[in-house]
Amino acid sequence: MHDILERFLFDHAAVRGETVVLRDSFAEVLARHPYPPVLARLLGELLAAGQLLEATLKFDGTLILQLHGKGQLKMAVVEITSKKTLRATARWDGEIPDVSLAELLGQGGRFVITIDPDDGEPYQGIVGFEKGESVATIIEHYMQRSAQIDTRVWLACDGQIASGLMLQKMPLEGGSGAEDEDAWPRVQRLAETITAEELLTLAPREMLHRLFHEETVRMFDPATPKFACTCSRERVGSMLEMVGREEVDSVLAERGQVEIVCDFCGKHYHFDSVDVAQLFAGQGVAEGNRNLQ
Ligand SMILES: [Zn+2]
Repeated sequence: MHDILERFLFDHAAVRGETVVLRDSFAEVLARHPYPPVLARLLGELLAAGQLLEATLKFDGTLILQLHGKGQLKMAVVEITSKKTLRATARWDGEIPDVSLAELLGQGGRFVITIDPDDGEPYQGIVGFEKGESVATIIEHYMQRSAQIDTRVWLACDGQIASGLMLQKMPLEGGSGAEDEDAWPRVQRLAETITAEELLTLAPREMLHRLFHEETVRMFDPATPKFACTCSRERVGSMLEMVGREEVDSVLAERGQVEIVCDFCGKHYHFDSVDVAQLFAGQGVAEGNRNLQ
């Protein structure tokens, strides 16, 4: 079973859905960082949720899901682009026991969704984290509050595969009379029978057949999510400019060069005194071949 993101619609019912299975792309995320098992599963669920959510947004850009915690988990971030690429990272303290999301985040945990279009201003929504919530229920509540769209999400991750199913109620088209108004509660009841094992082992079409074989489900062309990091020498240069000359110079004086490691993919970027002088003279970071690693 490969990485796959598929949209589906119920004929004669105002309900749409998405399914996602992440295997190779998730493995690429985990290959770049060793995560404690509970965090690997959390990142897997966030990645699956991000792919499902991005698939319903009509924009070119990046969707960023962040969990900020005050417990042992400080931050978990996943980024999904409209080209279906994904990347993820997390910051935490010490050993991470196998506990609930609420315990990982501690008091005052927050969930932040950022929609960052390629052209235009980013939009950010912040959702407080309540006890007992999961990644799936956070997304459901967020969609209800921010877009008034009834949404149900089921997620599963075993540390190797991350998968998910989302259903959304679409607005009824006025006056058609042909709409099946019972469809929304009915398909939810059917979807609620899904198990984590089925989410992780069944191919999307097999899973939809199993759940909805009495309904008429129309599938669309699938997409293939892939791991890709959007870091670049230019972006690291801009970040150093924001840090400021004084601080960058003090690192140079101490270590002879500035080394930045991308949190998402682990790539190393080096800036020596010549690079730094060029950068702050406004000459950019064109000499990418100075990167030796
Ligand atoms: Zn990177």
